[in-house]
Amino acid sequence: MMSSKMSRIHRRILFKNPFCPENSRRAKNRNFYKMYWIRNIQSKPQRAEFKKECAVIVAHPDDESLWAGGVMLMNRRRRWKIVTVCRGGDPDRAPRFYRAAERYGAVGIMADLDDGPRQAPLNPFAVEQAIVSLVGGGEYGCVYTHSPFGEYTRHRRHEETGKAVLALWEQQALRIGQLWVFAYEDDGGGGLPRAVRNAHKELALPENVWRQKRAIITDTYGFAEDSFEARATPRAEAFWVFDTPECMRAWMNRKSRQA
Ligand SMILES: [Zn+2]
Repeated sequence: MMSSKMSRIHRRILFKNPFCPENSRRAKNRNFYKMYWIRNIQSKPQRAEFKKECAVIVAHPDDESLWAGGVMLMNRRRRWKIVTVCRGGDPDRAPRFYRAAERYGAVGIMADLDDGPRQAPLNPFAVEQAIVSLVGGGEYGCVYTHSPFGEYTRHRRHEETGKAVLALWEQQALRIGQLWVFAYEDDGGGGLPRAVRNAHKELALPENVWRQKRAIITDTYGFAEDSFEARATPRAEAFWVFDTPECMRAWMNRKSRQA
């Protein structure tokens, strides 16, 4: 039986967003918080989010596989849509992307924003427009996308994509139940990108799942065994998870202050 004091705390935390790191910091009893968090993940409203369509919104074909391929392979019963912001007009990468989407049982859609070697900054409005034109209007249980801080040092398109998704969520141009943001780091370019420890969610991929994901990188996309992509293909996937855009802003502000 829960004591009345416990249930008051429970209600208070329940009222707030349990995924928001600001709240987790405030939670006095960390063990209780952890217990709550695990229960909450399995609670009905969360499961309902997973029943809705999910979208993976990335900068380039192959990003969906590198950073969220395992999640898609391990949740085949969900309806998946994969969206890339760049390379829709690339005669080599575009057909490979559509074949990869097929292997995930997903619908693939591409835009074709500039992705030249100079990586000149894109107009944020153009990125938002490209995404809205591909996935706007729908309601998504979960959306997976790049971190506004990127995954490794450094690809500007990744950061621009993450920022655009957040902006659209704030404007309610995208209706999202939960936003799952890729959580990877590479020690400032010192190593291959790997899952951030202590991210909100970490998924260690079973060997067979990792092999399938890697096969999509090497066979479907045709990256050589010694390429950056093949070597980087993470064995664990990690995510920062947010229920509201306000929570994500608070997390970003805190992270910027720490930097
Ligand atoms: Zn990329």
